[in-house]
Amino acid sequence: MSAADLLSDAVDLRLMRQVVIKDAKAWQRLYDELRDAITRTANEQGREAIIEGLDRLRELGPGDFVAADRAPILAAIRKHMGGPALEAAMRGPVLRLSDAIFRVGADEIGRATGVDIGFMRPDLDALDVIAEGNLYWVGNSWNSHVQDKMTRALDDYFRAGMTREQLAQRLAEDFAGASPMGTGYWEMLADHTATKTREMGRVTGYERAAVEYVQVRAHLDEHTTQQCRSMHGRVIPVSKLSQQRDDYLAAIKTRDLVSAKEVWVMHRDASALAGIKTGDLPPGTASPPYHFLCRTITVAYFSARHQVPVGSTAVVEQTEVDRWQSKTFNREPLSRKETEALIERSKTARWSSPDSMAEHLEKHGRRHWGSAAGYGQAAIDIIRRGDRDVHVSVRRGRMKALFTERRRKGAVSLVVVDVASNQIETLHIRSAKRLSSITDDVPAIKQPARGITKWFH
Ligand SMILES: [Zn+2]
Repeated sequence: MSAADLLSDAVDLRLMRQVVIKDAKAWQRLYDELRDAITRTANEQGREAIIEGLDRLRELGPGDFVAADRAPILAAIRKHMGGPALEAAMRGPVLRLSDAIFRVGADEIGRATGVDIGFMRPDLDALDVIAEGNLYWVGNSWNSHVQDKMTRALDDYFRAGMTREQLAQRLAEDFAGASPMGTGYWEMLADHTATKTREMGRVTGYERAAVEYVQVRAHLDEHTTQQCRSMHGRVIPVSKLSQQRDDYLAAIKTRDLVSAKEVWVMHRDASALAGIKTGDLPPGTASPPYHFLCRTITVAYFSARHQVPVGSTAVVEQTEVDRWQSKTFNREPLSRKETEALIERSKTARWSSPDSMAEHLEKHGRRHWGSAAGYGQAAIDIIRRGDRDVHVSVRRGRMKALFTERRRKGAVSLVVVDVASNQIETLHIRSAKRLSSITDDVPAIKQPARGITKWFH
């Protein structure tokens, strides 16, 4: 489909909606009722049903809503959560919370899979950013003609839904003659403007939902760049993202291209961010995109503290594990005291089950440790030894403690303990230089511990 066809489709869609009699007040009333209902709904499924109803409403918009739309939206929610539950949720005094706090979680699933935008629904926050105007330049041009075309193209992208390829093609056609650039340039421009706009929109969403921290989530596969591998998992205060967005928009408004590039750096050097503590990241590094054609996103981060029921005895311990895990996500080694606490905790770790141990024994251990009893005990002994080394890493979102004992020829015996559950997961022999695999969220970080090994260096 050509860009012209797409555009005319989008226009048709809007005209079609305009012939219906609108009822903006009824829209607002239902929107408020549903938003309040969320705060009275305890179960996940019920909340999701209501959020879907809210999404449906946001899609329609107050300008396109007619009174008759109310019944089918409520009927759809009722089907998922049951009539009495919905009625109860829609009555009584409420604590006002933004629906956004729940939307963040709902969105996360789609976004974590690497989908770059929800094409079925307009991204209203991104559209607000576009409305600020004067945000984009093409080549070195920055005139009103360029602005208008770019704004319209992006508006259609976020509102009507186009793929990135279609947006690139649209820009190439719209600006044909204005700039003698090759296809690659338009692809990059389309991607870059759309990604930045979307991420700035997400910051607004976090602010509205009073989310304090976000976590960087790269799309991990064989194409993941080194920059984004280095950023993956880091926990960043929303205040930093807000500041970056404000600085960027301010630079753009005064057409200060140099500052715009400084406050939001596109890293060309692949190793520029590797192993740096989050607090020491170079200026201009907060929100993705971190480089051109970046697929990384952010998601709301809620610490484990918020997941533990009030009054539970697990609170203190969970808080400690949570702190260790946040530090690991941020590439910070634990303090000596924290490392000692981690070792003490791990000394009480047990194999998750006899079956799991037997499986690992067959896979990696029979030749070296012989019996199941010998294998099981060897793992516990390595954790307890005074001269073992301790590393931590994050694998599939969970913090791991890695205990290693030196063997011959640069090899180590490696015991992996899942920190939160305090369970031993495996014991096997590895090269001391390869404690991490490419699929780890955060590669192994050496911890300060007694008996620091000399043979690593
Ligand atoms: Zn990236």
